[in-house]
Amino acid sequence: MKPDWTHLDAARRSMAQRLAMSGITHHEVLQAMATVPRHVFVEPALEGQAYEDSSLPIGREQTISKPSVIAKMIQALMQKQTKMGRVLEIGTGCGYQAAVLSLLSEEVYSVERIRSLHENARANLRPFRISNLRLIFDDGNKGIPQAAPFDNIILAAAGSEIPRLLLEQLAIGGKLIAPVANGENQQQLLLVERLSSMRYKRTTLDEVFFVPLQTGTI
Ligand code: SAH
Repeated sequence: MKPDWTHLDAARRSMAQRLAMSGITHHEVLQAMATVPRHVFVEPALEGQAYEDSSLPIGREQTISKPSVIAKMIQALMQKQTKMGRVLEIGTGCGYQAAVLSLLSEEVYSVERIRSLHENARANLRPFRISNLRLIFDDGNKGIPQAAPFDNIILAAAGSEIPRLLLEQLAIGGKLIAPVANGENQQQLLLVERLSSMRYKRTTLDEVFFVPLQTGTI
């Protein structure tokens, strides 16, 4: 089945317009959000809600992230760049964010620890024939040492800290963004820039809500 790019086209464009009004100013990010058909990545019964700004269930107690949060995270990584280089995503889920990233990057590696979700993402993405995206079934806490360093790393699940191996796999000058749990049922987005081999600059952004970063594969 070929993806139907025109289906719900108006709803998708108005979602991008709402993002633009709520502080997303990066032209290429807005364009990518207006391009990827989010409804293809959710269950048919939820299709009608696909362009609302909400997270939706994707099975296995996981969720597709909110469009505004995805756009904000990618905008924070890109800043003034028009394109990212090698990008690592932890938590493929249904594959939606991976598809958005693939439009904005040279190369994307996306890791998922739940096999059925990894396979579902593969099926969701197949019709798009994206050539610069690799899906990997593994525990993302380890990163992908053989493909490192990455210019950008984005985590779609919240741990109590950022995995050390991911910080090590960030290129010098590269940026990582992750939700981090603070122990009081709260999570904050953390933007980390690697300044040199030993120095990292951390900036705390908004409060968010993500599913937990787990360990191991299932
Ligand atoms: N990127 C998705 C969001 C998926 S939700 C989107 O486009 O909306 C977060 C995902 O992270 C879940 O599928 C969960 O299984 C996965 N996850 C949690 N811990 C992980 C880990 N250690 N390694 C890889 N994936 C992980």
